[in-house]
Amino acid sequence: MTDVLTSADPIVWPNGKKAAAAFTFDVDAETPLLAADPSLAQRMGLIAHQAYGPLVGVPAILKAMREVGVRGSFFVPGYTALRYAEQIRMIVADGHEIGHHGHLHEPLAGVTEAQERTFLERGLDALHKICGVTPKGYRAPIWELNWRTPALLGEAGFLYDSSLMDADYPYELAYGDQGRSLVELPINWILDDWQQFAYIPGFSGCGVIETPAKAIALFTAEFEAMRANGGLWVLTCHPFLSGRPGRVAALKGLMQHVADCDDVWLAPLEEIAEYVRSQKLTPRTLNEPNPSL
Ligand code: ZN
Repeated sequence: MTDVLTSADPIVWPNGKKAAAAFTFDVDAETPLLAADPSLAQRMGLIAHQAYGPLVGVPAILKAMREVGVRGSFFVPGYTALRYAEQIRMIVADGHEIGHHGHLHEPLAGVTEAQERTFLERGLDALHKICGVTPKGYRAPIWELNWRTPALLGEAGFLYDSSLMDADYPYELAYGDQGRSLVELPINWILDDWQQFAYIPGFSGCGVIETPAKAIALFTAEFEAMRANGGLWVLTCHPFLSGRPGRVAALKGLMQHVADCDDVWLAPLEEIAEYVRSQKLTPRTLNEPNPSL
């Protein structure tokens, strides 16, 4: 094993496109709160705030996407699918991708391999039961993978992960010692609406309400730079945050702008991952660091 790392190479995008983009949504609803503290289930006001996501935000976002003609990727915790089955089926009916996002949005840091397998299996079972879907993609709750997670995902049949932040371009993430790999579609905190809009009293990591204009300006600046670099721009939004009317309106404007860029391939992540896999890239590693190096 070596600690010498290399960066991902630029991608040659299909059909003469210079860059790629995806609108993705993590349909968390109340799961991050319940995963952190199950007793929060007793707080009706708090749960109502989170329930707005699937109950109102998802239909509003779907309407905006229909009007612009955009298809995207929705990462759905198994619990969300079971509790809000009607809304999750609306996502499927509109032709969007459903991805795995844990069962109760369980953080993976510090859990055992057996627990991690259980989260995967429960999420898969729920998505299959409610939508008849076997997801190709995985996004870790809070974007936090364990070093063993890529192997568990490969073993469970996933094509890609979208949780890591070490590249501007998609790549094949090597795991194990038999040449196996998982397509990685990188994300980052800049392109996450949580950092712009998450105000949940008493919940750590939440305390801002920025204007939609400020958030869209940030997302657009990164889009234009990624477009110039030929990278993959992946925006992550949460329906309980970005599903509010003023924010949906702003997001719809951004969707229209990205859709109007003829040099950008706008697609659900699973289609981008299938394309990356077809390119037969040489897998690269991201090894666990050795602090005594
Ligand atoms: Zn999430």
